[in-house]
Amino acid sequence: MACRRSTGRNIHSGSRTTMRPEILFSTFKPVTSLPGVGPRLARLVEKLAGARVADLYWHLPSALIDRRHRPAVAEAVPGEIATITVTVNQHYPPANKRLPYKVRCSDATGTMTLVFFHAHADYLMRVLPVGEKRIVSGRLDRFQDELQMSHPDHIVSEAEADTLPLVEPIYPLTAGLSQKQLAKAVQAAVSDAPDLPEWQDAAWLKRENLQGWREALSAAHAPQSPADLLPEAPPRRRLAYDELLANQLALLLVRRSLKRIAGRSLVGDGRLRARVADALPYSLTNAQRQSLAEIDADMASDGRMLRLLQGDVGSGKTVVALFAMLTAVEAGAQAAMMAPTEILARQHFETLRPLAEAAGLRIECLTGRAKGKAKQALVEELAAGAIDLLVGTHAVFQEDVVFRDLGLVVIDEQHRFGVHQRLMLSGKADKERGGADVMVMTATPIPRTLALTAYGDMEVSRLTEKPPGRQPVDTRALPLDRLGDVIDAVSRKYRSGGRVYWVCPLVAESELVDLAAAEERYGGLREMFGEDVGLVHGKMPAAEKDKAMADFAAGRIKVLVSTTVIEVGVDVPEATVMVIEHAERFGLAQLHQLRGRVGRGGLAGTCLLLYTPPLGETARARLNVMRETEDGFVIAEEDLRLRGAGELLGTRQSGLPSFRVADIAAHADLLGVARDDARLVLERDPDLGGDRGRALRVLLYLFERDAAVRYLRSG
Ligand code: ADP
Ligand code: MG
Repeated sequence: MACRRSTGRNIHSGSRTTMRPEILFSTFKPVTSLPGVGPRLARLVEKLAGARVADLYWHLPSALIDRRHRPAVAEAVPGEIATITVTVNQHYPPANKRLPYKVRCSDATGTMTLVFFHAHADYLMRVLPVGEKRIVSGRLDRFQDELQMSHPDHIVSEAEADTLPLVEPIYPLTAGLSQKQLAKAVQAAVSDAPDLPEWQDAAWLKRENLQGWREALSAAHAPQSPADLLPEAPPRRRLAYDELLANQLALLLVRRSLKRIAGRSLVGDGRLRARVADALPYSLTNAQRQSLAEIDADMASDGRMLRLLQGDVGSGKTVVALFAMLTAVEAGAQAAMMAPTEILARQHFETLRPLAEAAGLRIECLTGRAKGKAKQALVEELAAGAIDLLVGTHAVFQEDVVFRDLGLVVIDEQHRFGVHQRLMLSGKADKERGGADVMVMTATPIPRTLALTAYGDMEVSRLTEKPPGRQPVDTRALPLDRLGDVIDAVSRKYRSGGRVYWVCPLVAESELVDLAAAEERYGGLREMFGEDVGLVHGKMPAAEKDKAMADFAAGRIKVLVSTTVIEVGVDVPEATVMVIEHAERFGLAQLHQLRGRVGRGGLAGTCLLLYTPPLGETARARLNVMRETEDGFVIAEEDLRLRGAGELLGTRQSGLPSFRVADIAAHADLLGVARDDARLVLERDPDLGGDRGRALRVLLYLFERDAAVRYLRSG
């Protein structure tokens, strides 16, 4: 499956010109600039790797064919790939078209037959002239008692022996694209790659025994043995380190520019918090208190807060965010909370409203749906400072939305926003008086290594403990042929007052296919349970989606069938059952997120993971992890271990960076080095103006971190 990576690509802003250095011009040309790549091929290459020459640099071979075995005919073993020098004895054109064309050859030790289906006789006569020596290379087989080679991969004369590649890289393909076509395009891209100035520390390269960039790139595309295909192979490590360094440098630059804007000290007097605490039916957990202490200290300092609040599903981040916002308001400022979707924004709003109002505050909700007079009024009140707290979607950051005094922005990212939104946000906050403090809430407990790639050096508060009274979720894995039992269980549960999520398979890349599966399941359940069943999916208009969710939350619907667009943050305390079809296709992180939807209201939850046998090893291991633990941090680490970061399912929607070469699991050791290196570089050469600094700018462009370069003073 080809999945286009898009790290950093979104960061391009149309209105600003790219200052990409000339030395990279050929690198960023469309793939059609490569010999042999026309528009048809380009479309396939684009689907597979990307639209530009650089995208082929990072399309590394996944296997190789070794043709170095050069036996005599008598030593040749069927089933193996061999390169054999033979003399052509005789051609045997077939009696009819369905039979193969055969060419008998021999050497001093024996005879063998070359076999061709649908052959062109004149072509074969030309490349295999009788009486001449030829070197043929391909897979051998035995047919009856005859040693054969069907359609040799290479046929060359002895004079051309040098042109026969003894070791050939094999690239991942996509339907319609042949190995030969792709290899040719990649090799052309790589051999034309510019000689870039060295951006790595020379002493470090030497110590690590690594080559220069161009040599490493060529070597990565010319593996000589299976070991060269591993992430630990030095050329790959070099390229991975480049990418990680670009990532860390870009994050540091963004962070520095955010930090450069003078922060402000926001100190609350606790009066609003006290009122909200009185209105809360519970008291804060220790983890919540601890995080709040960290946040308070950060907000009170003059510097600008850039903090990540990391906590598992249900760990109670929302109330922590509210308390932080209350401090901003106590200090005389306003606060905003941004959610990735309309549904989540509304839910946050509904949760926060009674509490905010208990403290005597004005809270409003702004989403893309707000239009006309109502929106105008809201915008005016916001500018006048009549609204204290604003909850919304990215609509909060539209040009025309101006705060009187925005002190704190909370971003509930649920893994949906990327660095790109954070940049946008910073632009918005910059316009406000002083730099607003920023807190990002993230629901999946990302492993530390991954957090580093997504957030760089952001300060982190972690909610490691869940509110009391949570019942464990009983998790079971069942083959799909026990669907009948599942339906019985579902029917029992919901008739006794529970509510059921039923998530349909992530079958294909196409949302339409997913939708068809969900609709079919919906139809089936509807026949059994009638009006109690509802459906929600990504293609629905927002209003219908909200209605379905609201109906489910209110109990007008008891069983909610959904595609994977199910809103991870939505809180329905009565939901006790989560059925996930084709659970084997989900990543652990996503399964964990989904499971976190149930068992929230103090009722015991059940999670039924339906799979289609036979289960692969990784899928089985994953389902076992789900049965064994509910600790999100453990699950996240396991996910990383089992799949490798590049494949963490949901990465595509996640906003986590996906790397082209670096593999967070395999190159974890390099990540810390890259962070320290990036820090040191910017300490010594803050504007990247020295020799290494200028080379590092090229590196940033090479990995499309153009936006980060804009944070440097030009030079
Ligand atoms: P998260 O956003 O981290 O997934 P929420 O903030 O939505 O979690 O909280 C999950 C549930 O736990 C909510 O229903 C919330 O009211 C409740 N909750 C939060 N903090 C506490 C606490 N200290 N004690 C009891 N329940 C809590
Ligand atoms: Mg929440």
